[in-house]
Amino acid sequence: MTSQAVLDALIIGTGFAGVGMAVQLQEAGIDNYLVLERAGDVGGVWRDNVYPGAACDVPSHLYSYSFAQNPAWSRKFAAQPEIHRYVRDCAQRFGVTAKTRFHSEVASAAFDAATGLWTVFLTDGTEFRSRALITAMGQLSQPAMPRVPGMERFKGEVFHSATWRHDIDLTGKRVAVVGTGASAIQFVPEIVPKVKSLVLFQRSAPYVIPKGDRAYHALEKLAFAQAALLQSGSRAVQFLVHESRALAFTSLNKLMKVMELQFKFNLRRQIKDPVLRKTLTPDYPMGCKRILLSNNYYPALAQPHVSVVSGAVQAVDATGVIGPDGRHHEVDVIIYGTGFKATEFLNPLQITGLNGVSLQERWKQGAEAYLGITVSGFPNLFMLYGPNTNLGHSSIILMLEAQMGYIRQCVSRLLADKLRYLNVKQGAEQRFNADLQKQLKQSVWQGGCTSWYVNEAGRNVANWPGFTVTYRLRTQRPDWNDYQQAS
Ligand SMILES: Cc1cc2nc3c(=O)[nH]c(=O)nc-3n(C[C@H](O)[C@H](O)[C@H](O)COP(=O)(O)OP(=O)(O)OC[C@H]3O[C@@H](n4cnc5c(N)ncnc54)[C@H](O)[C@@H]3O)c2cc1C
Repeated sequence: MTSQAVLDALIIGTGFAGVGMAVQLQEAGIDNYLVLERAGDVGGVWRDNVYPGAACDVPSHLYSYSFAQNPAWSRKFAAQPEIHRYVRDCAQRFGVTAKTRFHSEVASAAFDAATGLWTVFLTDGTEFRSRALITAMGQLSQPAMPRVPGMERFKGEVFHSATWRHDIDLTGKRVAVVGTGASAIQFVPEIVPKVKSLVLFQRSAPYVIPKGDRAYHALEKLAFAQAALLQSGSRAVQFLVHESRALAFTSLNKLMKVMELQFKFNLRRQIKDPVLRKTLTPDYPMGCKRILLSNNYYPALAQPHVSVVSGAVQAVDATGVIGPDGRHHEVDVIIYGTGFKATEFLNPLQITGLNGVSLQERWKQGAEAYLGITVSGFPNLFMLYGPNTNLGHSSIILMLEAQMGYIRQCVSRLLADKLRYLNVKQGAEQRFNADLQKQLKQSVWQGGCTSWYVNEAGRNVANWPGFTVTYRLRTQRPDWNDYQQAS
């Protein structure tokens, strides 16, 4: 166990959130911070998700930091290696890598009211003390494996898309894919040409619309690099296009009909077999689950050696997968494209606040926070990509940057006024969440589907029900009246 000097801020995680937050602290003149990362490199989901075809589905000019725009993006929707390189370059360029302690997994954190400090413990017992604790652990950083009877008995190869096994050659193999979410629709078309057969188990069909992707011409990239206005202009146009879509998800659900037409046209054009088309037609309102973008998913499923099985997998045995109709599908490899434990915020971290209250206990009915950032009873704890700050319509980085600005002001205030702690008032947090849940009731996400936005109790703990601009305005400046300030 090591005893360290007291830090001003401690950040957990080095995805887009953690790296950006560190840059913001530095800009505010706060250098006495440390970043902890359980892996050996920065990048978050873009370090981990190395499956074939991994790419963003928000245009890269918008899916990048506003303070580090990148004229060199090779295409409109960059692929994983390029996005990972970008995060890594930013971390290096802004000096964040040097402030990061890698292979350092945080196990727990406890707040001491007398000193106003967090004590943070790594899994190896190492201990740190800090005034502010900033979690940047992502919503999609813990892969979710389904609980299928007999799955441990399978004798072939098994892996999850977020821990892709590149050492397993899929050429000529019989492969089962479980899940049809955002990852599956990206990797399935990539592996279909090499496998002997592929059976795709689909619990519910996703809405897939075309991806307006293309490579940027060398001259375009040169123009973006030479004229900053062009680069910002491209970002601004993409911002407006995406922002306008928020209406369809939240208050004006009828606007979704336009995208639905696009979906129907796409499906009809790419899938000629009426039976398969029916199988691939979702039975819930569009937008209720994440809308997916792809040009090659449907054509891949139309291949003769590919079959789609609707319904939940019944069981797995030594040689294959038993589908919902009881039919046994013999396979060599099972790939789980079953997503992430998105509603289990900050798990499995044990966080203890004032009076020994555990955050997990507090969140038993579902995670919630004030502005998705602070929780009453957990002073000096600030979250990035916390509860209800996910989006269905635009770049998460817009939300993250709003949070970074807010947290930066809170940490500056703590230090400048030598406060012991800032604790959001319970009333402010409750009012905020009552209003938020009311707005979510009108959203398309309440359309009756099961999605990773909604927890087991039926509460949407993931999404922000509005424009990113509204969120930015709400987080522009902390309202100190909402906080108990202890000195
Ligand atoms: C495949 C994929 C594609 C996506 N595409 C898009 C897209 O196109 N547009 C979009 O807006 N969003 C997209 N997202 C959502 C994405 O999660 C966010 O955009 C964003 O990258 C989140 O960044 P983050 O830093 O908050 O979290 P992450 O990137 O998840 O980073 C969290 C970091 O915390 C570390 N960590 C976690 N727990 C601990 C611990 N206990 N101790 C130490 N370190 C810990 C992790 O190792 C990781 O490095 C995508 C997500 C995935 C998985």
